[in-house]
Amino acid sequence: MLQRTEGIVLRTIPYGEADLIVTYLTKDLGIVKVFAKSPRKTKSRFGSSLEPLTFSRIAFWGKEDAALPRLTQADIIHSFSSLRESLQCFIRVSELIEQTLHLVPERDTGRNIFPLLMKTLAIMETGCLNPLIALFYKLKLLEITGFLPGLHICGRCGGRSNAFHLSHGTVLCVKCSEEEDVSSRLSPGVTAFYSSLMRWDIAKLERLKPDAGVLKELALLVDEHSRYVTEKNLRSREFRRV
Ligand SMILES: [Zn+2]
Repeated sequence: MLQRTEGIVLRTIPYGEADLIVTYLTKDLGIVKVFAKSPRKTKSRFGSSLEPLTFSRIAFWGKEDAALPRLTQADIIHSFSSLRESLQCFIRVSELIEQTLHLVPERDTGRNIFPLLMKTLAIMETGCLNPLIALFYKLKLLEITGFLPGLHICGRCGGRSNAFHLSHGTVLCVKCSEEEDVSSRLSPGVTAFYSSLMRWDIAKLERLKPDAGVLKELALLVDEHSRYVTEKNLRSREFRRV
C-alpha cells in the first residue's frame, strides 16, 4: 500500500553504491525508515530532499508492516538549510536528533515528538546558539518518553531532598536512599528554574534569562541523566530483540 505523510529527515545511511536508507520523523506514523533508490546518482531534486533535517511531503510504498518500504516521493516543504550550513548549528541539532533516535522507538505513534521538533528547528533557524533551546527540547523529549528526572521531592516517599541519584532518575531523601551514593546535590536555584522551564512556552524561550551557573548545572544534570536512560533504554531494546 501507498502511505502518505509529512516528515523530517533525521538520518541517512548510504546503502550499496547509490541508494540510501532514510530515517524520517513523520507527522502521523512516528519514526519510519524507508529505502530511497538511486538518489546519490544524480544531483536531483529528489536527492536534495533527502538532506538531513529537510521537511517534506512524502509517500512510500510497501506492506503496512514492511521493515523498509520504498520512498516514491519527497517534495520539500521547508529545507532548514541554514541549520546545515552552519557547522555550530548542525552539531547542536545533531545532538538533539541523536537523542530522539535513542529514546523513541520506530513506528511509535503514541508519542507526539513531531510538533516539538518542528517548533525547535524553526526557533533554532532564528538563532541556534541559545543553550536554552537544546535544554528545553531534551527535557520535553524526556517528558514525552516517560524519562523526565524528578528534582523536587523524594521519588519514593515524597519527602524533601536535593540529593539526585542517577540510577533512580530522581532525588531521594536520606531515609529512602539507604547507603547509596548521591550523584549530585542540586542547588535551590536549579529546582526553581527547572519548574518554571517545564511550564514555559517554547516560542517565548528567549525571554527567560536564567543565571549562567544555574543553567550550566541543570544542563549538565540533564545530559548525564539522558546518557544514563539512553544506555538503559538501548540495552532493554536489545534484550527484547533476543
Ligand atoms: Zn524518601
